[in-house]
Amino acid sequence: MKYTSTAFLPLLLASALLYSCSSNPYASTNRAHKKQLKTYAKQLRTVPAIEPETSSLQLGDQWVGTTNFSMRRPNFVVIHHTAQNSTDHTLKTFTMPKTQVSAHYVIGRDGKVYHMLNDNLRAWHGGNSRWGNNTDLNSSSIGIELDNNGAEPFEEAQIKSLLDVLAMLKETYNIPAENFIGHSDIAPVRKVDPNETFPWKRLAAHGFGLWYDEGVVAQFLQPAAPITVLDSTASQPVLILQPLDSVSTIPPHFNPKEALRIIGYDTRDLPAAIRAFKLHFIQDEVNMVLTEKDKIILYNLYQKYL
Ligand SMILES: [Zn+2]
Repeated sequence: MKYTSTAFLPLLLASALLYSCSSNPYASTNRAHKKQLKTYAKQLRTVPAIEPETSSLQLGDQWVGTTNFSMRRPNFVVIHHTAQNSTDHTLKTFTMPKTQVSAHYVIGRDGKVYHMLNDNLRAWHGGNSRWGNNTDLNSSSIGIELDNNGAEPFEEAQIKSLLDVLAMLKETYNIPAENFIGHSDIAPVRKVDPNETFPWKRLAAHGFGLWYDEGVVAQFLQPAAPITVLDSTASQPVLILQPLDSVSTIPPHFNPKEALRIIGYDTRDLPAAIRAFKLHFIQDEVNMVLTEKDKIILYNLYQKYL
């Protein structure tokens, strides 16, 4: 059977009517959003931005605006869990001015994506944070909130949607793999999100974040291999244990604090930085102590950031 465009017409009209009749509970906050955009647009249109009459700078004889420019682009992605019980709760939180918090994207447990702010604008999700020498992550990052109460695993539909969003962002803004990080990474003293069930290894396999070489760690964990040698003083072959060569795995000058700092962690509170590192990379044992195995992982990983 051949469908004609007129056959679809009643269906289209019905769905259009349904859409227009469904009341959007966020209609008034959407209006507030647009009003705020107008204010910023007006600010951007104001030229020259520095008024010669009020400036103490020694300005040129006339204003000259370059013809070559574009919008600033995000270069980091910071992933969060909401620590709330529903997407609706978070959407409400991010549309109440008094909360002073927001994110570019909220992703529900069902995988639905809410894009709450243009990527070129600054959301308020990082708070007081630091990564390397970057002390204003909000200005350079996209914030993604995952609906999760903070103590539960993430839903598969949610992670699939997250991977789609990350792929889109990485391609659009050419964001380096190592710049996909978590809130706990940039605020180790204050934050523990996303929680220890977050699949960082899976993300890294898709090019979002870095991961260590698991073979190197497995080698370290391998028990000393028994080998048989012929002792020159003995008449019979003697079984000895091959010593584990851990000294050659981590050089003696290796400094874990410096390594954490090179990766990006704020190490002014070293135990907090260690906990944040383990929350991301050693999720089966999140604490403030670096074991020998943890040091192997850290040593292997930090070399990828050099
Ligand atoms: Zn957060």
